[in-house]
Amino acid sequence: MNYQDIPESILLAAEKYPHRTAYEYNDSFITYNELVDKAAGLAAYLSEDTSPVLIYGHKSPDFIIGITACLISGRSFVPCDISIPRERVKRIGQLSGAGLVICTEEGLSADMNVPEISVSELRRLYEKENISPVSEEDENAYIIFTSGSTGAPKGIPVRRESLMNFCGYAERFLKSAVHTGHALFSFDLSVADIFPALTQGHTLIETDAPPEKDTGSFVCTPTFLRLCLLSESFSRDNFPSLETILCCGEVLPRDTVKKCLDRFGDIRLINAYGPAECCCFVTAYEVTRDCTDGDIPIGDGANACNVEVRDGEIFISGISAARGYIAPSEQSDSFRDNGYYTGDMGEFREGKLYFRGRKNGFVKYSGFRVELSEIEAEIMKINGISDCACVFLPDGFGQARCIKAYVVAGRNLSADEIKDSLSLRLPRYMIPKTIEFVSSVPMTPNGKIKI
Ligand code: AMP
Repeated sequence: MNYQDIPESILLAAEKYPHRTAYEYNDSFITYNELVDKAAGLAAYLSEDTSPVLIYGHKSPDFIIGITACLISGRSFVPCDISIPRERVKRIGQLSGAGLVICTEEGLSADMNVPEISVSELRRLYEKENISPVSEEDENAYIIFTSGSTGAPKGIPVRRESLMNFCGYAERFLKSAVHTGHALFSFDLSVADIFPALTQGHTLIETDAPPEKDTGSFVCTPTFLRLCLLSESFSRDNFPSLETILCCGEVLPRDTVKKCLDRFGDIRLINAYGPAECCCFVTAYEVTRDCTDGDIPIGDGANACNVEVRDGEIFISGISAARGYIAPSEQSDSFRDNGYYTGDMGEFREGKLYFRGRKNGFVKYSGFRVELSEIEAEIMKINGISDCACVFLPDGFGQARCIKAYVVAGRNLSADEIKDSLSLRLPRYMIPKTIEFVSSVPMTPNGKIKI
């Protein structure tokens, strides 16, 4: 398929399959006809301005309509899940320059200094007609935020052309007419659920828990796959149609691969790799049983764009790579030579690409990208704290098991008070599980923070 335009592809899908379910979550669903009708109505309203639109809520048909409407109207969207604390949502709103907030849940408000559309107003706008021609189209499709090293969330603007290119690549792996998605919309893995499905006219069924419905494909992090496999009911008997599981976002452990292949036999298990800076994933490898004894590649040479290893580091250039972050303080030197230096170490062997760990900076924790310095900056804002340091405690598989914070406090503070204060500003997965009060941050003899 030629991805001239994402909304155009969705409109074509709607012409082909008007009565097919486009999106389903819990008891609510919309058909392709409803999706494009409502999105066109909302787009008529949105096209009166050009600034990014922050969409705030949880998985729902309204969220999907909001995304589609933004793309039709030429405005970029900034997805914020309801689980993100409001203070952080406000920060994301300011950093992204959002000129409008769409709330997709009853009674929800981002409480920012910009116009806001409530869910009831939203539903009235679906009825709007006569779309005015789009005067100016934002080159970005969306702005996604991840944990930032300077103590603030970091905004990555992803271009429309990168998203179109991604859909063309992802289509090779996600071919089933019914797909299960799990990622939150504020997490870039959701891009792999939403767009390849909608542009191909497939049905996207979303879940918060391990899937219960038998569908043809499923995208998740390895951590989530491990969780699904803990239940005996996640088996071939209950999922006879499941053809493809695509894992992305962190190292895919060998024992998870083995368990998955033992359970599903003929499943197509894909290990996909990529940073949010390059639109979801850019390389992928179809895992076979031989991989259970050795290294599992992350790519086989057929990539979404140019992927090289330069001095041991994976470097991505071409259509997929963003050009920089939106927050000026985060203009990292990772963006240079017309591409993005990922900070991931890699190696090509016999045409296959292998992941060799991180060079520095963030760690993937339960599939989420976490910069410890961002957590530390938030802890330091709490009155009475004079110093702190966070560390990841490892699990037995070379991954982070949980976050621990060492805190030097000049007044009586409890761990719960610190966690409560952090929960106003940080997502749950960034809140340290253990907080230890110390007189000074403990160091190892070589100057590293002691775990
Ligand atoms: P995010 O931008 O949050 O999706 O995180 C991207 C980072 O996750 C990459 O730079 C890698 O460090 C890591 N990552 C993504 N996919 C894989 C994979 N298949 N194997 C190992 N690490 C991965």
